[in-house]
Amino acid sequence: MSRSKAVIAIDGPAASGTSSTAAWVARELGYLHLDSGALYRAETARRLGIEDLRSPEVTAAVSSVAQIPEVRAAVNAELRCMAETTDVVVDGRDIGSVVFPDAQLKIFLVADPWERARRRLHQRLQRSATDAEIADETRRLVERDASDATNTLQARDAVLIDTTYLTQEDQVQRIVALAQKV
Ligand code: C5P
Repeated sequence: MSRSKAVIAIDGPAASGTSSTAAWVARELGYLHLDSGALYRAETARRLGIEDLRSPEVTAAVSSVAQIPEVRAAVNAELRCMAETTDVVVDGRDIGSVVFPDAQLKIFLVADPWERARRRLHQRLQRSATDAEIADETRRLVERDASDATNTLQARDAVLIDTTYLTQEDQVQRIVALAQKV
């Protein structure tokens, strides 16, 4: 069955910028942004009895909660339901491969782990991070990449964008241009 509403899938590893990019692309196109990682974080926070979805405790536990088949099924059902009536930009790890294999446009973002760690810390600390801080964050990111590996599935027909040397505005404009062509 073909979909009547548009889906743009933006996948990539931890801190590759999928959420912020998806939010910006959605604003440009007037679509709704669905952040699948936030749904996994919400379920993790509920289980831990914690309110802050971005807390280190939730971040440390989310990969294992996201391995639970029932949790994945519930998140996927919720995303599909929300996308039935509205054009959406959905970001995550397996959106183009598993959740919306018929998405009109699939993007897979990658970036060097050091650069991902640098950006993540800059966003969190609102200042330039030291090399020691970046090294520490890189280690955590690489660990999360490993525990997320089974659920990080690049769709065969995804457009791969390496953002290591791109500004966020450049990557957004590339995706918007691709979306306008499909
Ligand atoms: O993108 P974010 O870092 O907020 O995602 C949090 C976690 O949710 C990921 O580390 C991963 O374990 C899980 N996740 C997933 N599949 C997705 C999106 C996120 O397994 N589509």
